[in-house]
Amino acid sequence: MTGRATQHAERLDAVDPLASYRDRFVGADQPLVYFDGNSLGRPLAVTGPRLAAFVEQEWGGRLIRGWDERWFELPQVLGDDLGRVVLGAAPGQTVVGDSTTVLLYKLMRAAVAARPGRTEIVIDRDNFPTDRYVAAGVAQECGLTLRWIEVDPAAGVTASLLEAVVGPATALVVLSHVAYRSAWLADLPELTRIAQDAGALVLWDLCHSVASVPIALDEAGADLAVGCTYKYLNGGPGSPAFAYVAQRHLEELTQPIQGWMGAADPFLMGPSYAPAAGVRRFLSGTPPIVGMLAIQDMLGLVEEAGMDAVRAKSVALTSYAVEVADALPGPLGVVLASPRDPDRRGGHVTLNHPRMREVTAALWERDVIPDYRDPHGLRIGLSPLSTSFAEVRAGLEAVREVLEA
Ligand SMILES: *Cc1c(COP(=O)(O)O)cnc(C)c1O
Repeated sequence: MTGRATQHAERLDAVDPLASYRDRFVGADQPLVYFDGNSLGRPLAVTGPRLAAFVEQEWGGRLIRGWDERWFELPQVLGDDLGRVVLGAAPGQTVVGDSTTVLLYKLMRAAVAARPGRTEIVIDRDNFPTDRYVAAGVAQECGLTLRWIEVDPAAGVTASLLEAVVGPATALVVLSHVAYRSAWLADLPELTRIAQDAGALVLWDLCHSVASVPIALDEAGADLAVGCTYKYLNGGPGSPAFAYVAQRHLEELTQPIQGWMGAADPFLMGPSYAPAAGVRRFLSGTPPIVGMLAIQDMLGLVEEAGMDAVRAKSVALTSYAVEVADALPGPLGVVLASPRDPDRRGGHVTLNHPRMREVTAALWERDVIPDYRDPHGLRIGLSPLSTSFAEVRAGLEAVREVLEA
């Protein structure tokens, strides 16, 4: 069994059209098994020298002239690049800056203000903590009520669950495209339509799908979206997030953190705030330029590989992980807590067992790096361009060995 499945991993790597991309990441030559690219992607080898060159030449050489030459526009330039390569968004609707948490706040506040008289924000009980906490804060601040969708933690929000809670009171629906725990892949176009038919706006959190699952925001008629760039976009710890606001909402929405960098003419330094035209109005303070550089490197790689090929590899990796998990640790009581249907699954797989907390600690000791999510879930993140099938195999063999010990 073991020998045959190992050969299978080698064969899958040998026929993988994207296999060579893995060599472009720092650490790919080490035996370490990395199952956390959905939490913090590996750096690309080109990123180190690029950052050094930026310090020497652009920051060190151009100094403050850099703002006029390139930096001022970079949040929108990179936003448009994200729109083209990974979001399915036409130019002028995406901007980069802040963290996902801060952008969630800004867009939730803007959205509920645009639906006066409506009293509810709909969100699911298993959404990522920051999404739930920010929604609770906005509800409290604006005198609104949270309306919870109760979901199966091994699955996620379905059309019928959403239909049951939206109505004339719904101002805003907040959903994750891929659930951070189960990897449930929500039907973005369908759920968007259901919320909009009820007269609500929808805010999609794309943190766990962007650059792993193809996204077509414009085609789906999406209203609002946010996402982070340090997961499958390999921007590095704390790299800035992005916000998408559909063209038709740009002039109608106003965000609550009225800073000078999102103002109509920042260098006029005038007596009062007037928002910039277009998506730039969703910026607040000075954008984090250094944090955008690594994202550009990864986005270039994703564009070269193509999002459809990236998704095909992602599906192959998670399908293989499910198959090997069933065969190896499965008989020891390990249970899949992610969808079996690849069409309903994002880029990771969660495996439950009562001992997974200690198993995770033992795996880290052995240089196998997944992460742990309550209750007793081992989360295996498979970043399509930097993970091999052999890595999946070796990591799941280690899970079995640790459980047997
Ligand atoms: C990772 C993640 C976040 C992170 O928010 P930060 O502000 O970057 O800490 C938010 N939402 C989801 C769904 C995530 O997966």
